Amino acid sequence: MKQAAITGVKQAKVIEVPEPRAKAEWVKVKVHAAPMCTEFKGFLTGDGSHGYGHEAAGEVVEVAQPGRVKVGDRVVVQPGNPCGVCDLCKQGEFIHCAQWLDFEKVTGGKTGLVTMAQYLLKADWLLSPIPDDVPYDLASLAVCGLGPTFSAFELMGVDSFDTVLVTGLGPVGLGGVVNAAFRGARVIGVDSNAYRGKLAQELGAEAVFDPADPDTAQKILALTGGRGIDKAVDCSGIVKAHALCYEVARRKGEVAFVGQCHEDSPLKISQHMIQKGLRLHGVWHYNLGAYSRLMQVILKTPVLGAMITHVFPLDEIQEAWETQVAGQCGKVILHPW
Ligand SMILES: [Zn+2]
Ligand SMILES: [Zn+2]
Repeated sequence: MKQAAITGVKQAKVIEVPEPRAKAEWVKVKVHAAPMCTEFKGFLTGDGSHGYGHEAAGEVVEVAQPGRVKVGDRVVVQPGNPCGVCDLCKQGEFIHCAQWLDFEKVTGGKTGLVTMAQYLLKADWLLSPIPDDVPYDLASLAVCGLGPTFSAFELMGVDSFDTVLVTGLGPVGLGGVVNAAFRGARVIGVDSNAYRGKLAQELGAEAVFDPADPDTAQKILALTGGRGIDKAVDCSGIVKAHALCYEVARRKGEVAFVGQCHEDSPLKISQHMIQKGLRLHGVWHYNLGAYSRLMQVILKTPVLGAMITHVFPLDEIQEAWETQVAGQCGKVILHPW
């Protein structure tokens, strides 16, 4: 089967690898849509590991034993390979499982781990059903496109009383705009990329500000009558954006962090948390039990398709990653077939 590979700095190609086989509860899925996510960082550095991709929607094509899915089922493939038996996994919080499985050891094969390929293997409990009327591309947004911000807004109880700030309008932040608008909230975005700012407005943002503008915080506060933002979600992973969230959040407001960040935080415990009373959340993925609610966002958002700006056949992986790196795009999806 075909699989995406990185062969050097900004160099990618499709390679041929053995097809995986279903084994025990590990089900073989034919990948129809593989959204592109953070793997572009490996493309930029020429990271040489052999497989990429953790998001997919596809069709069950082989099962080794009767289980939770059958051949022909259309499914969203949940990320990772958590243990399935710990309390967190059983509670649906599998993304935080502390005992992720050694894929090669449990499946007995070297391929099938990644989604930028024609087939993959996944434990059956991590395959979520796609309603008949939802195409694979839109269903695949139920991973990182819509998932992290959906989870953040579930946690913060975002509703139509709220003004929501989304910092960072890449594919995850654009999903945040969709999720906040779906809940009836007023949405304000922040990003320096004009293409993405315009797209955010198409998807429901009332205003988008450039973080390079020194008056951005004042402009955001002015839009709320000086009161501040009820709930903010950072999708950029940039500490300047974190500082902006703390500054423009209202007293007793909430801030969620979705964008990975490995730098020191500008958070001041006394100023921001104790005196201002901010509540802070770190969010990675959503609780598996909320999947059908997330699917409602997909079913009932007519403009959702605009979030997907580019679709490439897997064979054009070089061009697909170049498009992602150039930033003039929303969510980019690969079609392996
Ligand atoms: Zn677990
Ligand atoms: Zn992702």
